[in-house]
Amino acid sequence: MKLAKRVSALTPSTTLAITAKAKEMKDRGIDVIGLGAGEPDFNTPTAIIEEAYAAMMSGQTKYTPSNGLPTLRKAICDKLQKDQGISYSPAEVVVTNGAKHALYTLFQAILDPGNEVIIPTPYWVSYPEQVILAEGVPVFIEGYEHQQFKVTPEQIEAAITENTKAIIINSPSNPTGMIYTEQELREIGEVCLKHDILIVSDEIYEKLVYDGAKHVSIAQLSTELKEQTIIINGVSKSHSMTGWRIGYAVGNKEIINAMTNLASHSTSNPTTMAQIATIKAYEMGDAPVEEMRVAFEDRLNKTYERLVTIPGFTCVKPNGAFYLFPNVTEAAKMAGFNNVDEFVTELLEKASVAVIPGSGFGSPENIRLSYATSQEQLDKALERIEQFMKASI
Ligand code: PLP
Repeated sequence: MKLAKRVSALTPSTTLAITAKAKEMKDRGIDVIGLGAGEPDFNTPTAIIEEAYAAMMSGQTKYTPSNGLPTLRKAICDKLQKDQGISYSPAEVVVTNGAKHALYTLFQAILDPGNEVIIPTPYWVSYPEQVILAEGVPVFIEGYEHQQFKVTPEQIEAAITENTKAIIINSPSNPTGMIYTEQELREIGEVCLKHDILIVSDEIYEKLVYDGAKHVSIAQLSTELKEQTIIINGVSKSHSMTGWRIGYAVGNKEIINAMTNLASHSTSNPTTMAQIATIKAYEMGDAPVEEMRVAFEDRLNKTYERLVTIPGFTCVKPNGAFYLFPNVTEAAKMAGFNNVDEFVTELLEKASVAVIPGSGFGSPENIRLSYATSQEQLDKALERIEQFMKASI
């Protein structure tokens, strides 16, 4: 059977390739330490699980409206009012099967063939593929390391053409953990307003910020920017609810309605009990989120300090998400490898440490390490990387 062009063109995920190899080694009894995780290692708070259980036992096991339960959409509006000071109505919210699905549906709803979407590198792996699946064209601009992996308004302006439809801003960022400041967002916002570019603001790591950093949504900076922005968020990372698959998009009603229409013919609705559990998550306030955030910050500080002492490793210190994104080009060279991808493969084979090569994020000089694992595992992994480097140089 000949497959459709659209799937043949998909790039296999580098994240998945390394994870699969690590799993295969584990199955053979090898003690692999995985630093590839894209999800918190904590359990979903018990009260949230109990809420879903109670919902199921009371018969709430049927379809909901395609855009989500009105009570959940109201809870999301309340959250946005409380956290960002922005006022939305439930009609401006569509609940989706995770933030990834919100992004996928959004690109399907707004892109015509040839429409361009500006994607700053390093980027989250799914952005370019989702744009291509919607017949759009990803246009990359480089968030240089000396710019703390962020892009400037000048770079954005230079990339805009008559075909530009949208730009993706992901702050805090996966994979770099960088956060745009309010001033930086204001300047980016000005360019987008001037050229009428839709801003897709992926705020999934909003709650995971460190060292006093503050998450600011570009939509909260002015009424004009609110109208120009679609916010993407969800509870996967904030409440350790990756498996529940609840995300959402908020903004322009026409776009939200189009996304709802698409969902009504593809997924019908996000899982009913997971939606009810999400209402509970928002009702609980930030206490459980804060507990996880504090644990992440402690791990970040400890891991970062030791990581930068490894020969050939340099790292811009992140202040968000749960990833470190060191540049290891020098380390790879010192250890006799041709490139970072080779370094990553050998690190897994010889030292049994799984990290993700930066090439998958459009940044081939770096690797991504997730600290969403215990400090004990992190220390053990660092020890192994140190030994690996010692033995190789
Ligand atoms: N956006 C970014 C930047 C992510 O890293 C992820 C998950 O890894 C998502 C969106 C998707 O989140 P969800 O699990 O809610 O689909």
